[in-house]
Amino acid sequence: MRQTMVAGNWKMNLGPEAGLALAGGLQERLAGRTLRGEVLCCPPYTTIAAVAQAAKGQPLLLGAQDCSDQTSGAFTGQVSAPMLKECGCTHVIIAHSERRQYQRETDDLFVAKIDQVHAAGLTAIFCFGELLDERKDGRAEDVVKAQLAGVLPRLQAGNPENTVLAYEPVWAIGTGETATPEIAQQMHAVARNQVAALRCDEFAAKVRILYGGSCKPSNAAELFALPDVDGGLIGGAALKVDDFMGIVDAAEAVSEG
Ligand code: PEP
Repeated sequence: MRQTMVAGNWKMNLGPEAGLALAGGLQERLAGRTLRGEVLCCPPYTTIAAVAQAAKGQPLLLGAQDCSDQTSGAFTGQVSAPMLKECGCTHVIIAHSERRQYQRETDDLFVAKIDQVHAAGLTAIFCFGELLDERKDGRAEDVVKAQLAGVLPRLQAGNPENTVLAYEPVWAIGTGETATPEIAQQMHAVARNQVAALRCDEFAAKVRILYGGSCKPSNAAELFALPDVDGGLIGGAALKVDDFMGIVDAAEAVSEG
């Protein structure tokens, strides 16, 4: 059985003070618990150092929302994977739909960034998912397959341990409209089959595929119980201790069977 992961993407919310308060609240609720799954929070760069204090050690892991495709040098405004590692990060989100949309990031850049993440000894969370129009046109499966094909076979050091996938239908992100369990399972199965075709059966069987898109305590249990859903990437609901912990508890309940 694959280990679950619940990862909070704080996006461009919470400075060091507010971030420390949220991480402290989470750590308080997690302290003394032995978790079966992994729990991760990904604050903005400038909040990472403060959260690292609260998240020291297990069980709350620390990640970043992006990184540079370069290791160091004259790249103004960028932050490298080794720097994130030095700050205590173990994970980096790559290819979030908001970076695809607002920064116009492409497959070539995703490959270079994920290679940087892996070279630093960190785990990449690679996001993919179709737009509403693509779903309406009946192209959701093809889009997702192409997004995976554009990146996974080209990674220098990708394996199921240092790579986590996150299916995030763009129409469900921040909209309150969650994918139905039928859609989520169908798309996760499509993704897993595509991973098998692009890499191998073992990679596909081992790699975790998270669901993201308006996941909340009230729908997490149903989503996480699906055979090809291994946890969630959480946006809005990651900003409140009670909501995020409700989702963590749903993942733990699934893990305990
Ligand atoms: C996200 O941005 O990755 C996300 C899933 O957001 P939300 O949970 O708010 O839909």
